Amino acid sequence: MGRTVVVLGGGISGLAGASFNALPISIKMESSERLGGWIRSVRGPNGAIFELGPRGIRPAGALGARTLLLVSELGLDSEVLPVRGDHPAAQNRFLYVGGALHALPTGLRGLLRPSPPFSKPLFWAGLRELTKPRGKEPDETVHSFAQRRLGPEVASLAMDSLCRGVFAGNSRELSIRSCFPSLFQAEQTHRSILLGLLLGAGRTPQPDSALIRQALAERWSQWSLRGGLEMLPQALETHLTSRGVSVLRGQPVCGLSLQAEGRWKVSLRDSSLEADHVISAIPASVLSELLPAEAAPLARALSAITAVSVAVVNLQYQGAHLPVQGFGHLVPSSEDPGVLGIVYDSVAFPEQDGSPPGLRVTVMLGGSWLQTLEASGCVLSQELFQQRAQEAAATQLGLKEMPSHCLVHLHKNCIPQYTLGHWQKLESARQFLTAHRLPLTLAGASYEGVAVNDCIESGRQAAVSVLGTEPNS
Ligand SMILES: Cc1cc2nc3c(=O)[nH]c(=O)nc-3n(C[C@H](O)[C@H](O)[C@H](O)COP(=O)(O)OP(=O)(O)OC[C@H]3O[C@@H](n4cnc5c(N)ncnc54)[C@H](O)[C@@H]3O)c2cc1C
Repeated sequence: MGRTVVVLGGGISGLAGASFNALPISIKMESSERLGGWIRSVRGPNGAIFELGPRGIRPAGALGARTLLLVSELGLDSEVLPVRGDHPAAQNRFLYVGGALHALPTGLRGLLRPSPPFSKPLFWAGLRELTKPRGKEPDETVHSFAQRRLGPEVASLAMDSLCRGVFAGNSRELSIRSCFPSLFQAEQTHRSILLGLLLGAGRTPQPDSALIRQALAERWSQWSLRGGLEMLPQALETHLTSRGVSVLRGQPVCGLSLQAEGRWKVSLRDSSLEADHVISAIPASVLSELLPAEAAPLARALSAITAVSVAVVNLQYQGAHLPVQGFGHLVPSSEDPGVLGIVYDSVAFPEQDGSPPGLRVTVMLGGSWLQTLEASGCVLSQELFQQRAQEAAATQLGLKEMPSHCLVHLHKNCIPQYTLGHWQKLESARQFLTAHRLPLTLAGASYEGVAVNDCIESGRQAAVSVLGTEPNS
């Protein structure tokens, strides 16, 4: 009889971990009735697609290429909606500062020109960066790193906004080493971020396929799927069940204990099952509460990986127009503590606007505003978020009319925070797993990247570590 591998969590990381796993028996557990985790796409009354979680996947780099390869293997090529390099959604991103939208400069000419809200052309920040010595700390906050290398304006406007856009987090708490490892590595290896990015870290081998070549030739900045990104976990589920993997939905794992012969007992609400190996693709803090007493040091390291909530408000307007064309805009915390940014969904993916088509935007709410509200224990009503989002759309984009459709979702603890010293938590978890030879592999957004590409890669790596060899998906 083959080994039994149980994968915990039916988000994209767990689905990828199970699909790359070629072991004969693999069982996939998911606490909710649907798979996909934060990837969720819903249809509006006019057929428009509203993404409640991620809305675009980047094709760049080896990880981006691997995801495209998976898309082709799942037979989804004809569903891909690309954003090509010459499209406004690929070229234009904005910051909302001082009550106005400012285009972020692109290209060398853009860097040489004055570019408000920055007081000087960004070229000067680049020049300063080239002259700064290498940092000596093993980790640093994103804010401190950016301030040291690029100056206070870039730190408090650009990097602050970027941390809010990617992690819904605070640049003064997040770790440069874990959140932006390529910037950290560039400084370590080449003394300068600019030199490091120019000289590169050497070419990583990249898979090849017709879709990957098309993405490179057309310089895609991101892509989605015609019916929304949830098509990806749905296709993975079909693939898994066709291979005989048992997918158990509505089955929250309640505990893990070690049997005498080194196997796991995975406890469910009313039953249990045994496993030779467990791949955990549930949030680190959830896993920390399921581990047995023997694994207390591991549980302690995992419980320290916290996450923040985001309220996602999808709005659709009939007959309305945006003042600018681009991917969207970010809002630094100094401008508004609660509005992280607004994504102009219709610009990137007009194919998803429905019929009759309506302008879709998504307002992301979070930051210290939401944290204070959550801590106060007051009722977090849908109306509160809707009103805050509509006000932001009206003030920041001039969308003053009533939306024809609105969806409000508060995603609790949806984005893990890689705070200063995150790498040490990962290190102690790894050391414990190795020293105790626990048949447990960690995957998912809690560890080494929150983007969909990172999560798929974490699932693939988990399968590699279980198989001891590269998987054939
Ligand atoms: C609002 C938002 C917007 C985003 N935008 C983008 C974007 O545009 N591009 C991008 O690349 N990334 C984006 N991301 C990030 C990305 O979507 C997530 O990091 C990724 O989907 C996380 O996948 P995961 O499988 O690691 O975790 P999850 O999606 O959290 O999956 C974990 C699963 O485990 C299940 N589970 C939990 N506890 C148990 C238990 N006890 N037993 C069994 N199952 C359990 C949960 O129900 C869940 O289904 C966004 C995220 C959010 C929240």
